[in-house]
Amino acid sequence: MPKLVVFSGAGLSAESGLETFRDNGGLWAQYDPMKVCNYENWLENFALVHRFYNLRREELGKVQPNAMHKFLATLPHSLKVKQDIEVIHITQNVDDLLERAGVSNVIHLHGELCKIICPKCEHIFDIGYTHFEPHNCPNCDYTKLKPFIVFFYERAPKYMMMHDIFAQLGSRDCVLVIGTSGNVVDISSIIALRGNSTKIGYTILNNLQPCPSIAESVFDKIFYKPTTQAIPEIQQELRHFFAS
Ligand SMILES: [Zn+2]
Repeated sequence: MPKLVVFSGAGLSAESGLETFRDNGGLWAQYDPMKVCNYENWLENFALVHRFYNLRREELGKVQPNAMHKFLATLPHSLKVKQDIEVIHITQNVDDLLERAGVSNVIHLHGELCKIICPKCEHIFDIGYTHFEPHNCPNCDYTKLKPFIVFFYERAPKYMMMHDIFAQLGSRDCVLVIGTSGNVVDISSIIALRGNSTKIGYTILNNLQPCPSIAESVFDKIFYKPTTQAIPEIQQELRHFFAS
């Protein structure tokens, strides 16, 4: 079965109102990322770390999936092509907006904001949009529970899964990249490396603007515009590729 891999980043959720985290005056500006998102010293900043993610969780509870999240949830059926298509969602986002739009089985490379993990026994549980009030692990009684977010200098186990998925793509498959600067995950190199053996059938990029860490040459089609405005064109490109 042909595959469609949708690889997304912050630009997917920006129009839902989550972009303010990196804007001047936004949450990121008030907190030092090297204190609230750093695996090496997070225990020293335990209270600050949880305060920061409590605020982010609260913000997430107030925003809604946008039209692109909702469009992605209609795939592959809305393409109305005869063949079955396996759609795989890989996101760098820690929000749950894809899930709330109706997408299931999202691979979250950098964790999930609504969840807490026990670093000792790896027990994970969902707290929704509530504040985390420090308590012991319900499974092993460990005292230092952590936001289920991949911090700087922390291992990201889902990266292996991502590389395996890309390694299996071929000429019948399509990759759609939405809203990523390429600074954290070098997505154009991942696509280009695959092209050295078997070229991926079709590759589409939708970003707000060109980014230094994204190689335009690896994409067959590029749309520089807010993602919700690119929906009709992306739909047409996907339909055209998978119908032929
Ligand atoms: Zn535990």
